[in-house]
Amino acid sequence: MSAQLVLKPGRERSLRRRHPWIFANGVAKVLGRPGAGDTVRVTGSGGEFLAWAAYSPASAIRARAWSFSQRDDIDAAWIEARVAEAVARRAGLVTGTDALRLVFGEADRLPGLVVDRYGERLVVQFLATGVESWREVIVSALVRATGCRDVFERSDAAAREREGLALREGVLAGSAPPALVEIDEGGVRYAVDIAGGHKTGFYLDQRENRALVGAHAAGRRVLNCFCYTGGFTLAALRGGAASALSVDSSAAALEIARHNQQLNGLPDAKCEWREANVFDALKQLSAEGRQFDLIVLDPPKFSPSPQHVDRAARAYKEINLKALGLLAAGGLLFTFSCSGAIDVDLFQKIVAGAVFDAGVDAQMLRRLQAGADHPMLMTHPEGEYLKGLMLMRL
Ligand code: SAH
Repeated sequence: MSAQLVLKPGRERSLRRRHPWIFANGVAKVLGRPGAGDTVRVTGSGGEFLAWAAYSPASAIRARAWSFSQRDDIDAAWIEARVAEAVARRAGLVTGTDALRLVFGEADRLPGLVVDRYGERLVVQFLATGVESWREVIVSALVRATGCRDVFERSDAAAREREGLALREGVLAGSAPPALVEIDEGGVRYAVDIAGGHKTGFYLDQRENRALVGAHAAGRRVLNCFCYTGGFTLAALRGGAASALSVDSSAAALEIARHNQQLNGLPDAKCEWREANVFDALKQLSAEGRQFDLIVLDPPKFSPSPQHVDRAARAYKEINLKALGLLAAGGLLFTFSCSGAIDVDLFQKIVAGAVFDAGVDAQMLRRLQAGADHPMLMTHPEGEYLKGLMLMRL
């Protein structure tokens, strides 16, 4: 018999709407003694079935729903089927690349599981107790579904600590990744540091946006702020950019960026890499009187939680304001936020404020988001984290 989570009266609403999170403050009582990751039956205050969920005793998200169907048995076969379906759904979804996200947590009904494919290698993050307790089943299901033999774990994200789980990384199957693994994204080659890079090594979520930048880069002087390993820079140069100045504070990321420049045979004369704080670099470039025709702002998450929204909003506004000051008339700004706590509307308001303060006119050409391999479950809007705008300065 599964343990049971009984919700407080009125707190069954979100589960009825198929939102997968059960917050600790909505739980009236726990019947039985479930351990971390165990499957619990979630019921309303009257005992009516709502969901099967994975229990997480240390987390404010006390349980994450696997299924809203009472008939489901959350066993190894059920988990394997979810993994196989997630992989199968990606077939034909994104093209022209050998690197993509195969599983994206809640959106694939595997809360807390992230799986990225880099060529023939898989990188996995177990970010919640439920998927953690099925790790062996998940790894063998992934190997079966993909034919990839080498699986590496990068469960070193802060999300894991909030679940009361220790950080883990290492080989889960097959061999350890080489220092750099090469991928091909739309004809651009990128070296990825699977073991030591950010997230699982690369920002796969920006693939479509890199292509868009590439498509608009011809003849333009490009400034790429927060360039990491040069993703947008190389896409822009491949698209015929006249020059690219790229800024990041991480020497390790810039080293791979330079390596990526070589990999793609791009000339030094067009490439300038600057190790600097972007906030300082933008001021300095303004003092130098530099102008650009295409600027990318892809900062790290300024607002890791809802408590940081105000400070983050000021930071987003500042970089956008400074960037607009460096943008020539007719220039394009691709500006992003990956803070889940800042939604599309707020981000647009922040950028509009920067446009106003810069004393310029700008058009919005497009709203931008993560690629189709990073889907959002319609009943779980928290899954939408990456948002961006493509603007043209008039
Ligand atoms: N655009 C990249 C991903 C950017 S991730 C891509 O498509 O691959 C954010 C980057 O910002 C990281 O490389 C990090 O090193 C860098 N960073 C964080 N804070 C910074 C700061 N204040 N100044 C410069 N770089 C910063």
